[in-house]
Amino acid sequence: MKLAKTKNLIGLITVVSLGFVLLQLYLLDNYYKSLDIYKKQIINYYQEQIVTTIYEHKKLSKIYFDEIINKENVLDIMAKANTASEEEKTILRNELYSIMENTYNNAKENDFRQFQFILKDTTSFLRMHRPEGYGDKLADFRESVKIASEKQEFTEGFEEGKTYNAYRFVYPLFYKNEFVGTVETSISFLAIIKLVEELFDHEGIFIIKESAVIAKVEKHLISKYYTKNLIFNDYYNDKEITDYSNKFNSINLNQILSTDTIINRISNLLSKEEPFMINNSIDDNEYISTFLPIENIQKQQVGYFIFYENDSTLIELKNDATLRFVFITILWLLVMIIIINYHFSRLKIDKLIDKLNFDKLTGAYNRNRLFEYINREIEAKKRYSNNFSIIIYDIDKFKNINDTYGHHTGDVILVETTACTKKHIRIGDYLFRIGGDEFLIILPNTTLNEAIIVAEKIRSQIEKKIYSINNINTITLSLGVAEYGDEDTYEELIKKADKMLYDAKDSGRNKVLG
Ligand code: GH3
Ligand code: MG
Repeated sequence: MKLAKTKNLIGLITVVSLGFVLLQLYLLDNYYKSLDIYKKQIINYYQEQIVTTIYEHKKLSKIYFDEIINKENVLDIMAKANTASEEEKTILRNELYSIMENTYNNAKENDFRQFQFILKDTTSFLRMHRPEGYGDKLADFRESVKIASEKQEFTEGFEEGKTYNAYRFVYPLFYKNEFVGTVETSISFLAIIKLVEELFDHEGIFIIKESAVIAKVEKHLISKYYTKNLIFNDYYNDKEITDYSNKFNSINLNQILSTDTIINRISNLLSKEEPFMINNSIDDNEYISTFLPIENIQKQQVGYFIFYENDSTLIELKNDATLRFVFITILWLLVMIIIINYHFSRLKIDKLIDKLNFDKLTGAYNRNRLFEYINREIEAKKRYSNNFSIIIYDIDKFKNINDTYGHHTGDVILVETTACTKKHIRIGDYLFRIGGDEFLIILPNTTLNEAIIVAEKIRSQIEKKIYSINNINTITLSLGVAEYGDEDTYEELIKKADKMLYDAKDSGRNKVLG
């Protein structure tokens, strides 16, 4: 019984612990999900900032286009320029330059980098930022201009140039319904960074792939406009942005990303060409850095915007999760203590109950439950017609044993006769010690004749038995057997068996009567 209870205990502990483990796993999963959601939110948030910022510039660019560029005087010059001689072109170029000069200066203040007028065949006609450079064909290396000219439609996007990289807005120009060329207005990435800072108060930088720079930018200009990124080997910094960031930003990305582990992690992520966010701490400050990949007009990924800020949300999420983990572990420990404690107090109670119901010396039931057990059988008989019988037996001349060998020997005899009896009754039978040397057996589902056979077996086994003490081999029993009769009461049944026992004693002992 104790073993079964221990098994129950282990089962309960296993089930409850498993429940706790599942709960912890669920919470861990939740924690990772919330990290993920937070990271995605931050990435979306910055992406929207970029989109908004570019849109702001696009609106402004459209105003320059509608109000100044897309006008009779400008379009007329462009229409003529397409077929003009070189001398005529110079005059037209100067004329266009003076028309645009004020507007271009105003645009520069709004961080526009260049205005460029381009003829039908994609030949550069006038660069406002470098009027002396013209006449080169752009289609070969300027995809945005090529598309806008071929499709004769507005084209926008990031594109590296021979000198600058820029976000370009290219408009087709029509004069009297005829396509006469294109105009490009473009902004530097510094413009985007500055506006993000102005509108959203977030500091950032831009890095561009070394390969993208080398492919497009004229060799002697690379060192003028770019510096090698010190953290990520195959990336360049836009010098303008770096200078600006060194001058105005509160913290430098190099300071934030100062450990090899984090740099390796980022290097791996960079190669995936997807937006990502990482967090780390420097001197008790929590930082998040968000990397947004930038595609050029040909849909090649060429660089990243990187925004960084002080943010402790992730660490707070982590601390919350740790706290939850510890709390639930403590709760589990408490539950375990309660379960184990309960188990052991149950065992103690069981022991007390055993004391109440069992005879200490022989281990047989004592009288306490006799009435209850016999009545249970009486009920069963009434309901299901289950026959049952009882045997009452008493050791013959037991007093002599005590007198001859002493009380202790008498005790041993009691224990050993009981053990012998137990061996010869079935598991469903109940053995009670009802007096000093007097015992009663309840035999459920047993008729009188069957019970007599059992009694006879017990009698003969006891008669044969040699006891462990003093080599005693003279113990015999007298046994009375009775089957429960339909109308019997408890007392009547006992009386019947008692009578048989009495008769057995009376007629010479060591016998069974039923
Ligand atoms: P009978 O054949 O008529 O039953 O003779 P008997 O000597 O067995 O007579 P009786 O049943 O009246 O005597 C029972 C004796 O059992 C009396 C008592 O001294 C002894 N006895 C009762 N309980 C214990 C016990 O726990 N231990 C020991 N050693 N003896 C006990
Ligand atoms: Mg006796």
